[in-house]
Amino acid sequence: MHHCAHARYVWNLAVEQHSHWQPGRAWAPNYVEQARQLTEARAGFDWLRAGSQTVQQQALRDFAQAVGNFFGGTHRKPTWRKAGQHEGFRQVAVRPEHVQRLNRKTGRVWVPKVGWVRFRWSRNVATGVKSFRVTRDHAGRWHLAFATIPDSIPAPGTGEVVGVDRGVTVAAALSTGDLLTCPALSPGEQRRLTRLRRALARAKRGSHRRRRVKTAIAKLAAREADRRRDWVEKTSTDLARRFDLIRVEDLNIRGMTRSARGTVQRPGRNVRQKAGLNRGILAAGWGRLVARLEHKAPGRVEKINPAFTSQTCSACGHCVPENRESQAVFRCVACGHQANADVNAARNIAAGRAVTARGGRALAGPANREPQLEPPSAA
Ligand SMILES: [Zn+2]
Repeated sequence: MHHCAHARYVWNLAVEQHSHWQPGRAWAPNYVEQARQLTEARAGFDWLRAGSQTVQQQALRDFAQAVGNFFGGTHRKPTWRKAGQHEGFRQVAVRPEHVQRLNRKTGRVWVPKVGWVRFRWSRNVATGVKSFRVTRDHAGRWHLAFATIPDSIPAPGTGEVVGVDRGVTVAAALSTGDLLTCPALSPGEQRRLTRLRRALARAKRGSHRRRRVKTAIAKLAAREADRRRDWVEKTSTDLARRFDLIRVEDLNIRGMTRSARGTVQRPGRNVRQKAGLNRGILAAGWGRLVARLEHKAPGRVEKINPAFTSQTCSACGHCVPENRESQAVFRCVACGHQANADVNAARNIAAGRAVTARGGRALAGPANREPQLEPPSAA
């Protein structure tokens, strides 16, 4: 599909522009500037002009979002998109009449400059969809996903406030003491994935077998992603229903407190980085959770600067790195208060405390820096 090639071309152009940017230099062109350049490029190239402008603009917007995520610390740097590997585009400003159901199993959607495209009606399409995304997976199957903004959930009116911390040992910790885990693959599925990965390494390039194994791996990955999405939906609905005010850590602030080397300033976060494999998925899940909360509880979500929340005592406010007995345990050296480390952090977030460093060590460094803890050997 031409749309994919156009979206990819525009995206890669944006990546190229951004790769020229270096710390200390002026900012690379932002979305507005790039959109202006796109208009110029469309005037100059017939093949680009023949494509859909909304698809091309959307690729730029997606890129701007990706850059934002990168500097927010939740995602990796946006990279080049390759033909055959990253095929997809997004269509916005969808009108209700552009999505039609033909029968129980099929529907069709109007894609500008392409026409009607039939798709298998596998899930309910909510009314009022504003955009959809078309992608092609490694197995060569096309997918169509509609994006909907969920209805807001009324506040319970109890005046209750909750703090949510992205946990080190769990997906999220609540100030109420709840520890939430995000479902992943079952041990059986995990074993199967390991077996498949080994099989993939042995399979000859270009062989049928290799393609079969790749498809099986992609299916497992999709199942895991489905479960995480499901968890995000349930958790965000639950929180929006139970609490009037939801305070979460502000990831953008965290991104800015990164040191030049790119290490995250929060003690213990390194350990999770080493877990590597799940980090990206978990981080993406967290960003999604916050986004969904903002949809479902508009005006009731507050972002809190997370600096020092993990080493400040939620009982007495004493703030020193020594409070952090281990990855999982918080024990205040001043008042003896002991709690799960993630829950203690969530309580500080719930308090909305503008936490400042009072310990001597913290004052030695820049104000927004937090001393690193040694990763515990037993983790
Ligand atoms: Zn204390």
